[in-house]
Amino acid sequence: MSFSSLGLSPAILHAVAERGYATPTPVQVAAIPAILRGADVLAAAQTGSGKTAAFALPLLQFLQDGRTDKPRKLRVLILVPTRELAQQTAESIRALAQACPHSLKIAALFGGVSINPQMMDLRGGADLVVATPGRLLDLIEHNALKLSDVASLVLDEADRLLDMGFSDEITRILALLPGQRQSLFFSATFPTAVHALAGRMLHQPVRIAVPALAQNQPDIEQRAIMVDAGRRTQLLRHLLKENQWGRVLVFVATKYSAEHIADKLHRAGIKAAAFHGEFSQGARDEVLADFKASKLQVLVATDVAARGIDIAQLPVVLNYDLPRSAVDYTHRIGRTGRAGKSGIAISFVSADTEAHFHLIEKRHNLKCEREQIAGFEPVDIATAPAAPAAAANGGIKGKRKSKKDKLREAAARDENE
Ligand code: AMP
Repeated sequence: MSFSSLGLSPAILHAVAERGYATPTPVQVAAIPAILRGADVLAAAQTGSGKTAAFALPLLQFLQDGRTDKPRKLRVLILVPTRELAQQTAESIRALAQACPHSLKIAALFGGVSINPQMMDLRGGADLVVATPGRLLDLIEHNALKLSDVASLVLDEADRLLDMGFSDEITRILALLPGQRQSLFFSATFPTAVHALAGRMLHQPVRIAVPALAQNQPDIEQRAIMVDAGRRTQLLRHLLKENQWGRVLVFVATKYSAEHIADKLHRAGIKAAAFHGEFSQGARDEVLADFKASKLQVLVATDVAARGIDIAQLPVVLNYDLPRSAVDYTHRIGRTGRAGKSGIAISFVSADTEAHFHLIEKRHNLKCEREQIAGFEPVDIATAPAAPAAAANGGIKGKRKSKKDKLREAAARDENE
């Protein structure tokens, strides 16, 4: 299958070639012709599947064909859950749009930074906006843009949007959009609430299911290493020393752990930094740029901060703390093995978290052999509780620990290390 058989115009094919994409990914093969036809789309696709180009290419073609004179009218709206994803999506669409004959205005709108520059940016209009829902509504209230000309709406990472509590904002935005429009819905997972939202939004959608990550992406080697909770930092240092990994994204449960572990690695001479939600936007951008430029080898991140990070060829993702849910597991390991590149996803599992990891495996129909690393064999197994209620990572949903509990546990762990 080639890009030229999908119905894309010569201008867009040129943009694809400029970007260096040789063959379309499965989600692109399925979505591009449907979107060009004007159909609604419901796609189960994860980050790394090439989903951004899957919706961006046909929508850019639509904007190129139907371009309007100034002031520019907002015709394509893409909603995303985080500012990082807003920036990255806008960046990749700009890169594709650059090679197109007619210049398009693409704006990224997200919270956590001053609204004024974004208002300035919207003067004269925009053709395509990538936005987080809260900031988009703020800008509409400030009369900085309106949605009455939107012809295509994309919900990207719909499960994340709902996970992050954007349900009300999405409802308000849907009410402001023209009833006659194309809606494209992308989500890695489909819990009930996501299904319900898709049902409300979509009209006879073309359904696309790219094979689920855990079973069908042989490019990602999934490993589980048994280790006592108190020895995880030492094991991480050992693994970093023993393996020729480039960049490693380490996931932890709390901001405190992110800071603490990054600090320990740093003091051990490893180029590591924390990455969590309390950093300013400037600080996040800087850390991310250093990581992308390989000035940092290890990023110790929380789920919230790491959502949507797109770093090409991230070879290793490591779950220092297990994710709270099977959905988070999918999202975390989706950070590696991007578009045909191979990757490794390692989970540290201890006696306390074994049952929780087993649940994640069951959800994904996955079976990871439990490995042990010489010198780091766990000693806690004999006393392991049967149930996961006291999992060190916050356990299963509904049994979440308080912040204080987590801090206390982290402090107790420090004393052991
Ligand atoms: P996404 O799933 O949209 O986050 O894309 C993941 C990565 O794959 C991005 O770095 C894209 O630039 C890249 N990519 C998207 N489509 C293709 C393609 N057809 N061939 C090669 N790389 C691609």
